[in-house]
Amino acid sequence: MPHIYGLDAATTQLSNQAAGLASEVLAKHAADVDAKARFPEESVAALAKAGFYGLCVPAALGGKGQGPRAFAAVVEELARGCASTAMIYVMHVSAQQAIGTSPTLQGKDELLREIAAGKHLSTLALSEKGSRSQFWAPVSKLTAAPSVDGFTTSAQKSWVTSARRADSYVSTAQKPGAASPLESTTYLMRPKAHPGQIKMSASFDGLGLRGNESLSVTLESWPVAKADLVSALGEGAKTKLEVILPWFSVGTAAMANGLCRAAVEATAKHLTETKFEHTGTGLRDLPTLRARLAQMSVRTEQARALLAYTIGEMENPSATTPLFVLQTRLASLEAAVDVTDLAMKACGGAAFSKQLPVDRIFRDARAGWVMAPTVDHLNDFVGKALTGLPLF
Ligand SMILES: Cc1cc2nc3c(=O)[nH]c(=O)nc-3n(C[C@H](O)[C@H](O)[C@H](O)COP(=O)(O)OP(=O)(O)OC[C@H]3O[C@@H](n4cnc5c(N)ncnc54)[C@H](O)[C@@H]3O)c2cc1C
Repeated sequence: MPHIYGLDAATTQLSNQAAGLASEVLAKHAADVDAKARFPEESVAALAKAGFYGLCVPAALGGKGQGPRAFAAVVEELARGCASTAMIYVMHVSAQQAIGTSPTLQGKDELLREIAAGKHLSTLALSEKGSRSQFWAPVSKLTAAPSVDGFTTSAQKSWVTSARRADSYVSTAQKPGAASPLESTTYLMRPKAHPGQIKMSASFDGLGLRGNESLSVTLESWPVAKADLVSALGEGAKTKLEVILPWFSVGTAAMANGLCRAAVEATAKHLTETKFEHTGTGLRDLPTLRARLAQMSVRTEQARALLAYTIGEMENPSATTPLFVLQTRLASLEAAVDVTDLAMKACGGAAFSKQLPVDRIFRDARAGWVMAPTVDHLNDFVGKALTGLPLF
């Protein structure tokens, strides 16, 4: 049967390889990662070793030269094994796209080669304490500093996934003298470069995606060389909305779809295998539970079909592409919340008491909802786009 994302032979092989890693490595550590809220070191190392850091790096720089189609298929498989690992990977590839498309960043080819070789993990540091989920409006500012041939900035980044492990962050601040936070710039920072000027919170103890190491990070007079600008001064919104947003949306939609598939699979297995000894029947003989499972499957495949269509839009962009990008993230996040809720109800106490992986999937699925752009932002953006209003 053809893959719902329309994969060719090469991308099918990558998707199968990701599925193999997910079952052989990610799934084995997922419960421990969740219980201890620890970074999934084994799983992230396995991704690096298998060349997945460079999935979307051009082949000429040592990468696999893939686009959003392979990215979605790979992330979906990873999320079936461990959503924390999938999220770390989505942040990495979204940041890598900002690096790869940068018109200003010096030395980006060497950096992309390092990424392709599995030696460099990146992430996004967009959310700030001052503007919270409204990532398009940083309150931190760049101040000109001739001594570092560039700028300095002080910032309170409220959540940075892989904060301690990442080799670089794609970050954002207002340009010097900006009239509004929308006049922003994106820049690359290497968090290990100036240990005295960076502080991180001790740990991340989230409801879900507990392996993410999403820490708050404070920068004090952090030097930003001109050579490290990912966008031109004042052009940060372009990087965030035209590069990071579509890749992050495809990645997180795929992650949500992977969680839906994991929930459907775990529920179907539980209903098929679990018996009532006193009647000789099983859970699958109850029409209410079968109907829940059917609804879960329909929502999952609807979300996957919309993502498949959106990927086609990204490959052949048109005026409607941004709307599909927003809608696919919205549809997948809502599907994941609803599908995992149905899974908890269908599996009953077995899910509630952690005999099954369903409660972890249920908690992990809730993180996407609050990650920016949140479901509220997405609903507002889609409504604005449909009524001809500007997004900001
Ligand atoms: C597991 C996890 C990992 C994360 N990793 C990263 C990361 O690596 N990098 C990064 O930059 N960020 C990251 N984030 C942060 C994330 O993107 C959001 O910025 C954060 O979750 C917002 O939380 P808050 O309490 O500040 O939200 P608030 O902004 O306080 O929002 C509270 C509520 O108000 C709603 N709201 C806010 N503004 C609007 C609006 N304009 N219209 C309608 N409703 C609105 C929101 O939808 C939400 O329901 C991560 C978050 C999580 C949960």
